[in-house]
Amino acid sequence: MVRFFASDILPFIAGAIAPEWFLRLSKPVVIYPFYHTVSDEYLPHIHPLYKPKTAKAFGKDIEFLSRYFDAVTIDAEKLTKHAFHLSFDDGLRGVYETVCPLLFRKGIPATVFINSDFVDNRRLFYRHKAALLIDKLTKQPVSKAVQKEISTGLGIHFSPKHSLQANIRQLPYLEKNRLDTLATLLEVDFQLYLKKNRPYLTTSELKEMQGKGFAIGAHSIDHPPYSELDETEQIRQTVESCNYVKENFREKRAYFSFPFSDEGISGSFFEAVAGKVDLSFGITGIHFQNRGKHAGRIDMEKNGRNAREIINKAFLKYKINSLHI
Ligand SMILES: [Zn+2]
Repeated sequence: MVRFFASDILPFIAGAIAPEWFLRLSKPVVIYPFYHTVSDEYLPHIHPLYKPKTAKAFGKDIEFLSRYFDAVTIDAEKLTKHAFHLSFDDGLRGVYETVCPLLFRKGIPATVFINSDFVDNRRLFYRHKAALLIDKLTKQPVSKAVQKEISTGLGIHFSPKHSLQANIRQLPYLEKNRLDTLATLLEVDFQLYLKKNRPYLTTSELKEMQGKGFAIGAHSIDHPPYSELDETEQIRQTVESCNYVKENFREKRAYFSFPFSDEGISGSFFEAVAGKVDLSFGITGIHFQNRGKHAGRIDMEKNGRNAREIINKAFLKYKINSLHI
């Protein structure tokens, strides 16, 4: 019943009420809307997975946020009114090309969370590999029989109900090597894609962005879902990527956003990284824990909704949670 309420009724109510209602919440909070990139073009390494906002839609989001919230830096403490801090995950090039000039013009600070393996287009994120393979299969479909043959060869259980694309989409991180085998079979060249399309930010672009109001945070080494890792590996991915940012970009404080999700992260993990991470972020909307050292963020790329609908819904959930219903 609660699940039904949350998924079906909330967007409707959120869309129907006045955007200003949340300003009447007594205590000012800082909200953390997050994106990956902004693009007017189809990106084969991203669009098969999710749809980033266009420059126009992103501009409208920023207009909405600026109207009702103060734009603050990532470590802002004393708030006089509700505030927002934007962040961008996965270190994608569009943030340099499209987002940075717009935010710089408006004087809005932001943070980009990078994966140490992807910076300078050294390696391709396994989910981006999956997207490229899905893109290829969409453009050059293969028969069910061939799909079955490929799946069996890869050791993936193939059910006729699911296409090879669906299997690729669900492939776990720990089986990511299969994507390389599949790329050879489907004649997709990941190295060439990295070289030609340069999907990720470079060190020099990141340094330039730092000079224009961006903070740089870590987002793990190669973006595993933490639910698939044991705690030792979770800690290694976190600490090593934070060290990478510290050494290369000399941020005073260590910021970290969990790859995919922070759900199910144990208290002992937070204790283990306490001296290494100053501020961490998840994806659970407006949410604060660990005495303000871990915050939720708001996914702005969901279902093509605009900032007003998304922010209203997030505040509504925040309000309901604080009432302990
Ligand atoms: Zn990410």
